[in-house]
Amino acid sequence: MPVPVRYTRYLLFAIVGFFLFFFLFSGTSISIPTSPSKPISPSYEEFRAHKVQTPGANSTFRVNATFVTLARNSDIWDISKSIRTIEDRFNHNYNYDWVFLNDQDFDDDFKKLTTSLVSGTTYYGRIPKEHWSYPDWVDQEKARKAREEMGRKNIIYGESESYRHMCRFESGFFFHHPLMLNYEYYWRVEPNIELFCDVGTDPFRLLKENNKMYSFVISLYEYHETIPSLWSTVKEFIKGHPEHIPKGNAMDFISEDSGKTYNNCHFWSNFEVGSLDWLRSQEYTDYFSALDQTGGFFYERWGDAPVHSIAASILLKKEQIHFFNDIAYYHPPFTHCPSDEQARLDLRCHCNPNDNFDFRGYSCTSRWYKLNGWKKPPGVK
Ligand code: GDP
Ligand code: MN
Repeated sequence: MPVPVRYTRYLLFAIVGFFLFFFLFSGTSISIPTSPSKPISPSYEEFRAHKVQTPGANSTFRVNATFVTLARNSDIWDISKSIRTIEDRFNHNYNYDWVFLNDQDFDDDFKKLTTSLVSGTTYYGRIPKEHWSYPDWVDQEKARKAREEMGRKNIIYGESESYRHMCRFESGFFFHHPLMLNYEYYWRVEPNIELFCDVGTDPFRLLKENNKMYSFVISLYEYHETIPSLWSTVKEFIKGHPEHIPKGNAMDFISEDSGKTYNNCHFWSNFEVGSLDWLRSQEYTDYFSALDQTGGFFYERWGDAPVHSIAASILLKKEQIHFFNDIAYYHPPFTHCPSDEQARLDLRCHCNPNDNFDFRGYSCTSRWYKLNGWKKPPGVK
């Protein structure tokens, strides 16, 4: 039976309505924005102390922070592993940004894959030439000979030119990259790392709320052959800038004799959560340029780990450096796994506590315990 003309407009509304409903509420065409404010589990300490009753309280709080990774295009698979572990154990709840830096242009494969893995926004930057080349005061011939000599002595990365640019960049420049300027805090991530426990507390937030500037999970001794003249350079800097050296710093972590000599202890900088504002401060700027002026990054093979660690130990108060005991972490070949069984269960850890490097002979973390007057876990000498 034909529909009377006066009803056709209702029929039209019904058809349009049906399609509108279908479009809005069905199938894959709807994209629900991933929320940065999903419930967040409370920090391990708070959890244990029963201070936090409802996981997820304050879960909307996010710090102005980013992950940062220096990588080559060829690192794509190894960095993908690291991203997955960070996302699964932490960032899927937060969606922090991720900045990728490279001395070459990133290719499309690298960008496509990493963007698909990161829950936050990804940015890709090329490092400016002046941050990855020889400063004009460095004698390149002398640098070349030094590399050859260190290669002959089989010093790790001793013969490598690019490794030296990398170390200098990480020591003095990554925080000045235009993509980093809008952030207050960074978390450095390298290829092939692993997290073994849930990250219970937002590390950025812990730093910010406690006025901390630098953090670590693993510490160890540096090969002296890579830094023969670093400490005398640092001593010159200290003499020239007493105003930058606060009382109550962590000098005793890195020196057994109040600064006369360096004991080679350093925080392992492939993991760092830290303050970018501190790295951009006058104190750190003066420190880095005093080091850079000597050419030691090229004539020797100064690593960014001792460079950052010495800076943190002399320029900051001891309390401004944080040991993330509850972040279980692996970068080849060392593991940090919390000794406390309850912590491992609460944070769903899958590391073997026997692999924990903290109190082995080559680690400096015992020294950090001593400096802070902490008791070592039961069974550890
Ligand atoms: P290791 O941890 O000291 O053995 O050194 P890595 O090989 O892990 O290098 C440290 C970091 O710098 C990693 O994030 C690497 O991806 C990165 N890296 C090292 N060399 C280069 C390089 O020549 N170019 C770029 N773009 N990144 C590099
Ligand atoms: Mn590495």
